[in-house]
Amino acid sequence: MSIRIRLTLWYVSLLAVILVTFSVAFYTVLQYSLTTELDRSLQERAQQVAVGIQALNNPLDILRFGVIRLPELDVFSSRSIYIQITDAQGEVIKRSPNLMGRALPIDQEILNSLHAKQPIIKTVPIGTMEMRLYSVPLVSGDDVLGMVQVGNPVGEIQATLRRVLLFLVSGTIIALVLATLVGVWLVYLSLRPIERITETANQIVSAEDLKQRLPVPPTDDELARLSRTINLMLERLDNFFQAQVRLSADVSHELRTPLTIIRGNVDILRRMGDSPADREEALNAIESALNRMARLVSDLLLLSQADAGMTLKMQPIDLDGVILDVFQQAHALRNGVELKLGHADPARVFGDADRLKQLLINLMENAIKHTPTGGSVTLSVYRADDHVRISVADTGAGIAPEHLPHIFDRFYRVKGQRVKGSGLGLAIAKWIAEAHNGTLTAESEPGIGSTFILTLPLLKDDVQTDG
Ligand code: ADP
Repeated sequence: MSIRIRLTLWYVSLLAVILVTFSVAFYTVLQYSLTTELDRSLQERAQQVAVGIQALNNPLDILRFGVIRLPELDVFSSRSIYIQITDAQGEVIKRSPNLMGRALPIDQEILNSLHAKQPIIKTVPIGTMEMRLYSVPLVSGDDVLGMVQVGNPVGEIQATLRRVLLFLVSGTIIALVLATLVGVWLVYLSLRPIERITETANQIVSAEDLKQRLPVPPTDDELARLSRTINLMLERLDNFFQAQVRLSADVSHELRTPLTIIRGNVDILRRMGDSPADREEALNAIESALNRMARLVSDLLLLSQADAGMTLKMQPIDLDGVILDVFQQAHALRNGVELKLGHADPARVFGDADRLKQLLINLMENAIKHTPTGGSVTLSVYRADDHVRISVADTGAGIAPEHLPHIFDRFYRVKGQRVKGSGLGLAIAKWIAEAHNGTLTAESEPGIGSTFILTLPLLKDDVQTDG
């Protein structure tokens, strides 16, 4: 069932419940008040007749002579009010003229209440119509003198109630029909923008053009927010696809160079394989190309595992050991660059020692690569309140400000450099830092040097012993 139909149904059902409840309540209250009003006027009229009788008679005379003088009933009756007076046995002794010879009914129930000296009010059939009949005994002391009956046909009230009922039922039906029509129209109007969004989104999908965006309505409502969210999603999808495309381009580009080297050297081996010196040279070139490929493949594998949510083998570790290992391994690469151990605060962190070493060696390797002979690279550890900062500072070429924000991107390399690399090292380093809830940042001044700073949270008990 579409939202449009569901909304309309909800809305119309709610309105129906409200209208029906209101109509039932209104009808009940009206019926009750009309009947009570009629009963009250009958009682009042009977009271007037009784007072009239009392004014004309002395109760003692009535008892003594058994004669009762009665007032003229047409004074009390009206077009629709009928009056009848009976004696103590229920025999009619006077009727209002508008009864025209007919009698008001006296049934057993009325006689019983006459004898019990109780007034009674009830609806009785008279001919084809119904009448509200109030019968009140005339009592003097302990004696029943007779009974006054006042009746009023309920036809008028019933007619009024019928008219009101008709009005309520037809009104409810008309209101519901109108509400359905207006509701359908309103829901159509308010859902139309969603349809437009769906259409545009469909067009974008079928055109496979993730550069397109949905138009955002100027209002700041749910639909504007929906469009903005979809646009954001499109942007992320677009970035993701572009990254995919870039990745395969970058990977194939990266693999092409070593493959070309290998192929060239295999050719050389085939043609001039006799000379041991040539062979050695060709094999060395092949080996270094293979190493480069192996490194690239393992870097890519690591990054894809990182993307897939790989978790590290975290445990409490002393940084001293890690720093020392990194420093020793870096010695093998130093290539005429002086390696210094700077400030070395002891610190314990929760981490994966191998990954942290990989990160730091990467920073050291980069620093050494980009520092000319005679320059220096300093590795330092500083403790602060709840974290530790490990910095790798070099006196090398530095990084131009326009490149600095991008060096942690995958496959980003500063062009035209003497030293070549895949551009994945810093991306991996950053991922390792973040997997440790840490950060990796770079500061650099071209011509003076760069400093890479790894910040890691200290192990909790280490923070306490420190404090
Ligand atoms: P690569 O494996 O190519 O070195 P990285 O991700 O490690 O890739 O580094 C990205 C780029 O950042 C490099 O191309 C290099 O230009 C720059 N870079 C990294 N470290 C330094 C440094 N210590 N000094 C100068 N430039 C650096």
